[in-house]
Amino acid sequence: MSGSTPTDVDTPFWMALEAGHLELQRCAACKTWHWPAVVHCRSCGSFDQEWLRVPLKGTVFTWTRTHHPFPGTGGLKTPFVTALVTIEATPVQLMGILEGDQEGLTIEARVTGRVLAGSESTSGKPAIRWRLDR
Ligand SMILES: [Zn+2]
Repeated sequence: MSGSTPTDVDTPFWMALEAGHLELQRCAACKTWHWPAVVHCRSCGSFDQEWLRVPLKGTVFTWTRTHHPFPGTGGLKTPFVTALVTIEATPVQLMGILEGDQEGLTIEARVTGRVLAGSESTSGKPAIRWRLDR
């Protein structure tokens, strides 16, 4: 995607989330996935970047449970779990709140995500919510 500037390089990510799905950036030349988004490939230097729709599925890389509220967590009921998830078929990792039953939460547990529409509690941006696969 030549012509991008550092200020709008991740716009396709946010537009896709606002439409309810996930798109990630990959180098069209060497197929290296990038997140955060880049203007040119860190691997081969190409400016030819593409955005591909990928399933909101992955595995838990790590997680933490928060018991006390802090600024920015106003809309969340404590305790809550934040998971860092490796997106299926990519090395990309995205963070999100884990919702629903947490029985069986372990490293490498499989999860499926959904997009939560932007609200006051997410500073107007859409957010990803994860749920353990059953
Ligand atoms: Zn590349």
